Amino acid sequence: MMEYINYIKDHNLGEIFENTSFKEVTTLGIGGNICLLYYPNSIKNFLTFYDFYINNTNNKLFPLFILGNGSNVLASDKPFVGIVVCLKKIDIQYILIGNNLIASSGVLISSLIYSLAKKGYGGMEYLSGIPATIGGLVTMNAGAYGKEISDNFIEAWCLNKDGNIINIKKDNMDFKYRKSIIQKEHLIVLYASFILEAKNEKEILLEVNKKIKNRKEKQPLKEKNGGCTFKNIVPFSTWQMIDSVGCRGYRIGDAQVSNKHANFLINLGNATSNDMLLLIKHIQNEVKNRFNVFLDCEWVFVNF
Ligand SMILES: Cc1cc2nc3c(=O)[nH]c(=O)nc-3n(C[C@H](O)[C@H](O)[C@H](O)COP(=O)(O)OP(=O)(O)OC[C@H]3O[C@@H](n4cnc5c(N)ncnc54)[C@H](O)[C@@H]3O)c2cc1C
Repeated sequence: MMEYINYIKDHNLGEIFENTSFKEVTTLGIGGNICLLYYPNSIKNFLTFYDFYINNTNNKLFPLFILGNGSNVLASDKPFVGIVVCLKKIDIQYILIGNNLIASSGVLISSLIYSLAKKGYGGMEYLSGIPATIGGLVTMNAGAYGKEISDNFIEAWCLNKDGNIINIKKDNMDFKYRKSIIQKEHLIVLYASFILEAKNEKEILLEVNKKIKNRKEKQPLKEKNGGCTFKNIVPFSTWQMIDSVGCRGYRIGDAQVSNKHANFLINLGNATSNDMLLLIKHIQNEVKNRFNVFLDCEWVFVNF
């Protein structure tokens, strides 16, 4: 591991933290220590690091995990003996060419929406209030209010396992419900481009505020959470199924089904990944017994 640390330091490739924890970098606040957390300061420097990583014979000993804003991640309590790379601190955030946006993958959607609104561009307001990065949103094909990021998506520039940059157009992204080719092919999103709409700033902000107010009313945003835990299975409503089997408020250790929204599992403070897994299993069993439906998790499980 020291060779990676020294390489990043010697070449000034960004910020590093040793022995931090998934508790600090995920919205659920759960998970074990991370050997090395690396924030590249530019895409160019990340590519330099990645080249060193894939050509190093030790890379198999130390897995690499790409983290967005950690808003959809449940990490195990075990130490992660590897490198977590977070692209949130990249220098260039976005470029606007007419109503086409090219954004770095680490940009947070909330700040992006406000910044674009000032320039008179909207069209992604439905994503307001999601605490996520562009890379995470594209990877998960995140959506809300009947829309998904794939509706705005044009193309992405990604790094493949061999260290080559490839361009992927929308038709080849294999977007499905909370899925894309990124997970399947273990790609790393560097940049993505989107189609926007020319709009009045006030109109955009009105829409954004409405969406955020709605989320505050319905979701347990004061608690540590990872958004909806289970996928919706049309035509059923997942939270209603969880509610009707009596799981609302059900608690194991410090992991609890939110009283505000039954599809949000929250960390009351010191929940372990095991508390969360037991709670997930309990809900899945109850729902399966009553409705004969298997609730599939939306979260990404890391280091289990
Ligand atoms: C309060 C709250 C509300 C939410 N509301 C919604 C909602 O309305 N709709 C919805 O769909 N989701 C929602 N979510 C879930 C979550 O925000 C989304 O899944 C989001 O897309 C995750 O983005 P992230 O940047 O946090 O990614 P992370 O959670 O950090 O990562 C998610 C996955 O994407 C991968 N990834 C991240 N960046 C990259 C990259 N650059 N290249 C390759 N892989 C990458 C990670 O490896 C991981 O597999 C919510 C979460 C919270 C906490």
